[in-house]
Amino acid sequence: MPTAPLNWETVSCPLCGETGDREFLRTTGDDNVEYRLGQCGECGMVYTNPRPDAASIAQFYPEDYAPYQPPTRIRSGAFRALRSRLGLRPEKGLTDRIPHRPGGVLMDYGCGSGWFAAQMRDRGWEAVGMDFSHHAADAARKNFGLKVIHGVLPHPTVPSGSMDAITLRAVLEHVHDPQQLLRAVYDALRPGGWVYASVPNLASWGYRAFGRSWFPLDPPRHLLHFTPTTLRRAVEGCGFEVEAMTTIGHTKWMGYSVDRAMRDQPRWWVKLSRIHLIRSAVTRWTRWTGQADDLAILARKPATAACTPVRAAA
Ligand SMILES: [Zn+2]
Repeated sequence: MPTAPLNWETVSCPLCGETGDREFLRTTGDDNVEYRLGQCGECGMVYTNPRPDAASIAQFYPEDYAPYQPPTRIRSGAFRALRSRLGLRPEKGLTDRIPHRPGGVLMDYGCGSGWFAAQMRDRGWEAVGMDFSHHAADAARKNFGLKVIHGVLPHPTVPSGSMDAITLRAVLEHVHDPQQLLRAVYDALRPGGWVYASVPNLASWGYRAFGRSWFPLDPPRHLLHFTPTTLRRAVEGCGFEVEAMTTIGHTKWMGYSVDRAMRDQPRWWVKLSRIHLIRSAVTRWTRWTGQADDLAILARKPATAACTPVRAAA
């Protein structure tokens, strides 16, 4: 498949527009290229800078990119319900707090292989997927028979105020202009509609412990590196009212960070963390103490909001 040439751009702060940053970190991607992360002196946002521009970023998302692959194990809605009834579910996800109404439309933006949208459909939502990757959109249709729109928001087939909820799981860290996307999400939601977003948490124990080896840095695909403060600022800056924030731990992510740290800086506690039980206990502890690797936010478009359409790109 022909690919566009790789073009690098040096940018001002994607959150507040401030020009100039100070170097925050240098880290190596899984392509063995060194990337530079800068921090905005004004709002504290950390971002990959320079970065591949919007026209050339697609080459970092090959068809075998992990989130496009179908999950190896899918828990059915019935199993989840039973586990929940038995009290085996350790935490209630923020997406469970979105009140469902009959016929309610939920869009999973950046749906990848489609498993999450399918899960929300099992919970009674009219679920729609959207992805900028043709391959992912096709896979989600084929894997789960989902309705999937290929493209990005704003999109001509998604009218203003047509969505009850939009989920952005592991999306915002990938986009060149988070404010533009969040404004388009705001526009697509009905007044009182819900947005859920999750991003890697730069204020996590994991980042402090593993530093440049922390797996969720993932340059150059991750252009933005949020903390609770900058994520809240991004969401509130587009008019949303924040309902809740939490952190989520993934033992698997911790495992990937351990693998990378073994390569970069194999200290004694890193070696010890290769034991799954220890890794799993540490992950749970980070969640209990609110400093796990994955940061989630739930917010609403004010019920009184008027809809001002955002023009879709030609
Ligand atoms: Zn800034």
